[in-house]
Amino acid sequence: MKLLIPGPVTTRAETRAALGQDVAPWDNDFRVFHARQLARLLRLAGGRGAEHTTLALPGCGHFVTEAAIRTFIPQGGKLLVPMTGAYGERMARLAREAGRVPVVLPVPDGTRVRPHAVAEALSADPGITHVGQIYSETGTGVVHDVVAIGAAVRLAGRRLLVDAVSAFGALPLDLSVQPEIDAVVFTANKCLESVPGVAFAVARTDRLTESAGNAGSWSFDLADIYAMAQRAPGAARFTPPAQVLCALDVALDLLELEGGLAARLARYTANMRTLYDGLLRLGLTPFLPRAVQGPIIANVHAPTDPNWHLQSFVDALKSRGFVISNFYTTDKPGFRVGCIGAIGPEDMTQAVAAMDAALTEIGVTRREAA
Ligand SMILES: *Cc1c(COP(=O)(O)O)cnc(C)c1O
Repeated sequence: MKLLIPGPVTTRAETRAALGQDVAPWDNDFRVFHARQLARLLRLAGGRGAEHTTLALPGCGHFVTEAAIRTFIPQGGKLLVPMTGAYGERMARLAREAGRVPVVLPVPDGTRVRPHAVAEALSADPGITHVGQIYSETGTGVVHDVVAIGAAVRLAGRRLLVDAVSAFGALPLDLSVQPEIDAVVFTANKCLESVPGVAFAVARTDRLTESAGNAGSWSFDLADIYAMAQRAPGAARFTPPAQVLCALDVALDLLELEGGLAARLARYTANMRTLYDGLLRLGLTPFLPRAVQGPIIANVHAPTDPNWHLQSFVDALKSRGFVISNFYTTDKPGFRVGCIGAIGPEDMTQAVAAMDAALTEIGVTRREAA
């Protein structure tokens, strides 16, 4: 079965095999292993040794996004959130429920955030300390220009938090030239192609030190994780998902073998091209025009045919070996297909053929959008 959902993704057998062992996470050998792994992730983010550090948090992406919000934005502080889609909304909710104040910047559906609009919003409200930007908006498929948005944030003298959960491991990122970024957050189970269970932040060490005491939570405090790491490199505060970290190390080896981030991005781009061409050939209507379609996930409008029924389509596809998401995250109904994970263009070709057969099976002939 191939997972064409936008995470967790299809993994390689070598990665999954690393889960099959008992591990003592407070053993000295494991600490050395974990410290080395954190340094590998730092390099992937373009982090600098003394300036940045990688912090691990057991759990999912929302956990580390909340931790970054709590750590770097003081109680009652204001965060500008460009409303890119479902994940922009989630960032705003995480901030609100943590007692921070989200300020929403509307973004027209299916477009890239304009750096100029961010600059205007920041100059209109000097109380905003941070911008929370989604790098790859999984809700729509649009990839945003974190470099250009970051430049606007830097010029305004504010700070940036980047949700790179569906970007890290494939899309470029260089923290060494983006000093305005307090933290970038991501998980093991999307473009890094490992299993779920651990999230990470690569963060500035100076900002972590300044932010001690902000979080209002012991579990979700990146500054506290940093304090622990300074006392004992590679040590965790609470039980880490040790097997999950072992699997991630194999996945990082495989990323290196593939040729690093650029090679992975090239494969995902080829996956998306195959999918997008195939969708058009089937008479389906992609949600985004090709020019703004990112390489991570495609949203597709629901066919107009009255026989269209998402769960029936999902089931018919599953019986042909492909799992797609059984919900949509756009205003208009549709379906979503991920192009990430241990899959190649030949898998996407087969997936398109399976979609054709699945549509026929459920009786959908009018495939274009309304
Ligand atoms: C997947 C994802 C998350 C986190 O999801 P979890 O289910 O909490 O791991 C956050 N942001 C984006 C953009 C995502 O794609």
